[in-house]
Amino acid sequence: MKVTRINAGEFGSNCWLVIDETAYDAVVIDPSPEIGVIKEAIERRGVKIRCVLLTHSHFDHMTSCDALRDLTSSPLAVHVGDAEGLVNSYLNCSRVFMDADIVYRPAEILLKDGDEVSFGALTLRVIHTPGHTKGSSCFLIGDSLFTGDTLFDGSVGRCDLPGGNSYELERSLEKIKAFSSDLKLFTGHGSNTTLEKQKAYNPYLR
Ligand SMILES: [Zn+2]
Ligand SMILES: [Zn+2]
Repeated sequence: MKVTRINAGEFGSNCWLVIDETAYDAVVIDPSPEIGVIKEAIERRGVKIRCVLLTHSHFDHMTSCDALRDLTSSPLAVHVGDAEGLVNSYLNCSRVFMDADIVYRPAEILLKDGDEVSFGALTLRVIHTPGHTKGSSCFLIGDSLFTGDTLFDGSVGRCDLPGGNSYELERSLEKIKAFSSDLKLFTGHGSNTTLEKQKAYNPYLR
């Protein structure tokens, strides 16, 4: 398994290309950069995209979600609790932050907690972690967790946007804390880290 950060988009949201190196099948998590940047990354590695996944449906994490579906003919998956954000500019926050109605096509796959998406020899498991948004989810692949805006290096996502709930976030963080400490964390903004480090110095995880 190989994890590559495709350059973050305009708003600093991380986009991940996760590759199964046996079959060169891959998934893209949070297609935030312009489509040309993602296309180049895919073509350079010669991988076949099997699914595009959103950790949540905020506008800054899904800039190329329509264009990438068109390019790769792969489905888009998001937790059912965030399905509405694709088609609603209030929920996806583009109305508030961009003064624009940015919307996309609905998702082909609606995820729930425990669902699995397989590509090549790898399996991604959906861990529903509401709090930042209703449908915010982390994706577990092997010993790596893609946390979206639920958990950052030293911090957590805000809970004051539509669908946010600080009590739910607390419960979601408890869920994450239960994983093995050597879990690698790939966050929605900022740098990679590990659960062990976050347990040591992230005030929200102590
Ligand atoms: Zn967000
Ligand atoms: Zn974000």
